[in-house]
Amino acid sequence: MVDKPQWRELFSEVVTSGQCTGCAACVVACPHDVLDYDDQDGHYKPWHLDIDGGREDCTHGIKGCTMCTRACPRFRSWEAEIDVHRVGRERTEDEVYGVGDVVLARALDPEVAGTGQDGGVVSAILLYALEHDLIDAALVSATGEGTWRAEPAVARTRDEVLATAGSRYTYSANLLAYPEAVAAGAERVALVGMGCMASAPGAMQVRKAGKIARRLSLTIGLLCSKTFDDRIFDELFEARYGLVREDIVKMNIKGVFQIWTRDGAMHEVPLKEAHAFTREGCQQCPDFAAEHADISAGGIGAFGDWTLLIVRTELGRMLLQGLIDGGRIEVRPGDDDPGAVALLHKLAQVSRRRWPESADPKPRLIPLRRP
Ligand SMILES: Cc1cc2nc3c(=O)[nH]c(=O)nc-3n(C[C@H](O)[C@H](O)[C@H](O)COP(=O)(O)OP(=O)(O)OC[C@H]3O[C@@H](n4cnc5c(N)ncnc54)[C@H](O)[C@@H]3O)c2cc1C
Ligand code: SF4
Ligand code: SF4
Repeated sequence: MVDKPQWRELFSEVVTSGQCTGCAACVVACPHDVLDYDDQDGHYKPWHLDIDGGREDCTHGIKGCTMCTRACPRFRSWEAEIDVHRVGRERTEDEVYGVGDVVLARALDPEVAGTGQDGGVVSAILLYALEHDLIDAALVSATGEGTWRAEPAVARTRDEVLATAGSRYTYSANLLAYPEAVAAGAERVALVGMGCMASAPGAMQVRKAGKIARRLSLTIGLLCSKTFDDRIFDELFEARYGLVREDIVKMNIKGVFQIWTRDGAMHEVPLKEAHAFTREGCQQCPDFAAEHADISAGGIGAFGDWTLLIVRTELGRMLLQGLIDGGRIEVRPGDDDPGAVALLHKLAQVSRRRWPESADPKPRLIPLRRP
């Protein structure tokens, strides 16, 4: 066992083993700027600059730097370590989607509700946190007009939060926007991201990864089964269904890919046709429910314009109460939609089966009985 695991161990145990999600936590945590990020041709992977130890090793790591392995939310016994840090204990086998309480919510501001993907609650939380001086900036995902390519972005204002609301189903390593947020003076930064990214702040905090661990002070997770390669637009949506990306105005996944076009029509693409375009970094991901976020958000369930929330931490509970008291959201108990909770359980189990048997066994733990 290596005492001070560094890029060499990260490269062999995570990056080249298939467990790397491409979350970019190692890239933004590296204090020597020797890691870069490749997001071309569906790669979404970190790489090490040749000048400084080559592809597989790092001269700073040889001298004792361990920052990249401290930041990585897939390194060794990440799940149990972050569970204990976030909620004070390891989960039980039955807590297949992590620790937390399920509620349903939607934004009461019509503009926020109308712009959001489901109930607009993620945007409502960001707006509340910005307006109440709880955060200085949020790391979110933007997309250019008609391109549908998801890109990391910083939101500091209402306009920026609303302009980046909604879901894109290609990958956006939102952590890559961190340097821009900090360069503009942000000290308290919220991260919005799928489970792979949402575990990064906890990993950094429990392994004491310096300033970045302290600054990432709020994590909003997005439920997620997978993301897709950008080529899905040309090779499936356009080639088979004649849907060109410039005409697409909104997308959602509700058992099928739902695609709305400029002319007001909604088109359905069966998910089984999309599976061939699954992004490589998602193939072994065990985390459907963004288990280490303060609050996780998803769109499953019978109520189309509501967001399903899993409220996990004290900070998450405090924010939810603030939003309710401030008249920003309305909530109803998760029990109002037992089908959604059962589906959450099932999808979380499906994801956990993907974690390889050769790695730390905890993320594969699946309960024998269903609730
Ligand atoms: C790739 C992906 C897969 C998902 N899969 C599921 C699923 O299988 N089941 C389910 O119930 N829910 C899933 N969701 C979550 C769902 O689509 C909504 O994001 C969630 O319900 C919150 O809705 P909202 O209206 O409250 O959020 P909004 O107020 O619309 O805010 C959404 C936030 O997500 C950010 N965002 C958008 N796209 C991306 C991206 N590609 N990467 C990182 N951040 C992004 C936006 O910048 C914004 O801050 C997925 C989301 C994404 C991005
Ligand atoms: S999972 Fe994230 S932190 Fe870990 S090696 Fe991959 S990109 Fe880096
Ligand atoms: S399935 Fe979702 S949470 Fe998992 S690696 Fe892919 S994008 Fe990240």
